[in-house]
Amino acid sequence: MSDSESKAPTNFIKQIIEEDLRSGKNDSRVHTRFPPEPNGYLHIGHAKSICLNFGIASEFGGLCNLRFDDTNPGKEEQEYVDSIKTDVRWLGFDWSEREYYASDYFQQLYDYALQLIRGGKAYVCDLSADEIREYRGTLTETGRESPCRSRSAEENLDLFQRMRDGEFEDGSRTLRAKIDMASGNINMRDPVIYRIQRAYHHRTGDAWCIYPMYDYAHCVSDSLERITHSLCTLEFEDHRPLYDWFLEQLGIFHSRQIEFARLNLSYTVVSKRKLLKLVKGGHVRGWDDPRMPTLSGIRRRGYPPEAIRDFCNRIGVAKAGSTVDISLLEFCVRDYLNKCVRRVMAVLRPLKVVITNYPEGREEKLDAVNNPEDPGAGTRKVPFSRVIYIERDDFMEDPPKKYFRLAPGREVRLRYAYFITCTNVVKDREGEISELHCTYDPATRGGDAPDGRKVKATLHWVSAGHAVDAEVRLYESLFTQEDPEDVADEGDFLSNLNPGSLQVLLSCKAEPCLREADAGDRFQFERLGYFCVDPDSRDGAPVFNRTVTLKDTWAKVQKWEHQKERSR
Ligand code: ATP
Ligand code: MG
Repeated sequence: MSDSESKAPTNFIKQIIEEDLRSGKNDSRVHTRFPPEPNGYLHIGHAKSICLNFGIASEFGGLCNLRFDDTNPGKEEQEYVDSIKTDVRWLGFDWSEREYYASDYFQQLYDYALQLIRGGKAYVCDLSADEIREYRGTLTETGRESPCRSRSAEENLDLFQRMRDGEFEDGSRTLRAKIDMASGNINMRDPVIYRIQRAYHHRTGDAWCIYPMYDYAHCVSDSLERITHSLCTLEFEDHRPLYDWFLEQLGIFHSRQIEFARLNLSYTVVSKRKLLKLVKGGHVRGWDDPRMPTLSGIRRRGYPPEAIRDFCNRIGVAKAGSTVDISLLEFCVRDYLNKCVRRVMAVLRPLKVVITNYPEGREEKLDAVNNPEDPGAGTRKVPFSRVIYIERDDFMEDPPKKYFRLAPGREVRLRYAYFITCTNVVKDREGEISELHCTYDPATRGGDAPDGRKVKATLHWVSAGHAVDAEVRLYESLFTQEDPEDVADEGDFLSNLNPGSLQVLLSCKAEPCLREADAGDRFQFERLGYFCVDPDSRDGAPVFNRTVTLKDTWAKVQKWEHQKERSR
């Protein structure tokens, strides 16, 4: 990672850490963790958390653990563990040997639970889930104490042991923390610590039939790993007193929880549960569908990790939640790709052009610049011949006033090649244009007229005899609404799906150098956008995903940065 990149702007979390370092807290260590639950693929929201946790560790000379928060066996799978590791690595971060699992702590968590019971801080409760909810009360109504609350430590130890031994049915009993049923914070009203659930766990198999709840497992895992700063999203703010309570009662290392706002992105959803619905419902081709906001999806789409890290730096970290315009992410992608990818020519909707005064059988190799932003990228040879393809919408038979591209009798430049003039329009029986006849001016080789005459348009093109047949997939946003989740009923977000989010073009023609492109290679197709080779490609038959168009959305981005400035 470059220096400029690792120096992310300051934020309230860094200020807290700097203060802790000044006061010598935690022996001046900084240790963070990224704690995904392996119940789905990572998305762009997780990228914010990854960049923050790993970024802070590296900036303060500390460490960041990768910890799988795998306490929910029904929903977790090895496939997700593997994809998460791939994605974090791809983003450019390294957890070295510090790969941990909450499930590694099951025995320790159990032992600590015994400690809580012995200290009169936890009890086995016989209420059902529904009853617990009913007893819990509401924001305006205090809760009621469970009839089991006054059980003796001995009885609780016995019952808890029998829970663990599988004597009771799923859901029939729980272990609960004994805190305060009248607390203003509902999370403190004797929350459940353990539930009975006979479920096969992807790592511990059938060893356990009781599983710890997130709030208990998380703070203890942080403590066991001696995490100094436990960064999480805002919805856990109300859970912090509970986080602190467990660690205080157990008298173990006290990590500090700090909350920040989740990333929300316009025109998409960032919730594994909803993304899973898209996958399971067949609304997309899979977790790595290039329309998905998953890291595997945007990787397949062609988004470079550098651009995502840049994006995360730009959006910053704050307490106040906000939705970031997806055009900012696209801007970062364009900004990065512009500097480093090769330009090539490809025609998405080909229209055949015969250059009638160009000798049959002749072929030339013309010099084309690989990247005007990077002279070191050099030049390449592009074949030119009598029959070429241009883009169908670069020609109009009867053009309106502002249309400057090719039209009957009009002269335009072919990029890196010649000026051509349209002399004849050939149509098929249905009246559709099937080809154009043009003449070229041999004196304009390379794309300039020695007599200084100007043309108003430069078109990209591909020599028909040399072209590679390609499939191109064009994408639009997955949803038609800026906030797809703004619906009456949760499940209704599907009604905002964009039916036109994928367009497949099967008869595209590309420059011959693209025949050898490998999956993941990125290019700019001149005038059309940035494209990335899809793994569906076969030998000699590449498939391209459009990563982003070339359209500049600076104005929007600036408006957004301005807004951010004002809200500080
Ligand atoms: P989802 O709602 O998508 O399931 P989650 O929070 O349940 O997300 P976890 O696997 O628990 O997913 O997340 C791992 C870490 O990533 C957590 O610390 C979580 O706070 C953080 N995270 C998840 N989503 C976002 C987001 N949109 N923006 C920032 N951080 C996020
Ligand atoms: Mg979660």
